[in-house]
Amino acid sequence: MPDSLQIAGLQRLSTVDWPGKLAAVAFLQGCPWACTYCHNTAIIDCAMPGMVSWDDVRTFLSRRRGLLDGMVFSGGEATRQPALLPAVRQTRELGFAVGLHTAGAFPNRLRELLDQELVDWVGLDIKATPVDYQSLTGSPVAAEKAEKALEILLSHDVDYEVRMTLWKGGIDYAVAVAQWCLDRGVKQFALQRLVESPSASLWKGPTPQWEKDEALVRLGALGFDHVAVR
Ligand code: SF4
Repeated sequence: MPDSLQIAGLQRLSTVDWPGKLAAVAFLQGCPWACTYCHNTAIIDCAMPGMVSWDDVRTFLSRRRGLLDGMVFSGGEATRQPALLPAVRQTRELGFAVGLHTAGAFPNRLRELLDQELVDWVGLDIKATPVDYQSLTGSPVAAEKAEKALEILLSHDVDYEVRMTLWKGGIDYAVAVAQWCLDRGVKQFALQRLVESPSASLWKGPTPQWEKDEALVRLGALGFDHVAVR
């Protein structure tokens, strides 16, 4: 039942969480990983109760028909909770397109969503080269899960963007991750800047410094269909 969804917060309007769309964003509580750069460590505690009820989200959406393109389920790790599926179904029944942010920690739930054509767009984080996943996330299975999620995503006909937040090294490291993605068939890639936040309590730095123009040139030369740098 969607009523059991732990929702940490609801952003009523975003122009950036689903490129090209006006969307609301539900931040779902809990994540099995603990990335050193996580911008809000309070949201990764799976035991924390939700702060917003699904009923309130549904009421909000029913008043936004015609004003929003869609709803993004983000996190935390949005695919952690089984209640995501019925919540997504209700969102679609209310007439909204559905976007999903995930880092791929629960590939089978991503597969269920995509097999049932419940999601219109996926923003999948690929965070690191496989060898660096454990040091970033603290999870020994994170690299395997993320690669599986990527494979599932690319085997479905759904709009997507694979995104990386540059957390170590410089543009050379972003190019290495991008090339790994390209080798697996990724066509849409975005590089994001790590933004230091007071609530990113695990981050010890240093924060990579890099030039947007150089990133665009280096990533653009790799052969993706589309590259974004933010
Ligand atoms: S996957 Fe996302 S929500 Fe989970 S710890 Fe990493 S940055 Fe935070």
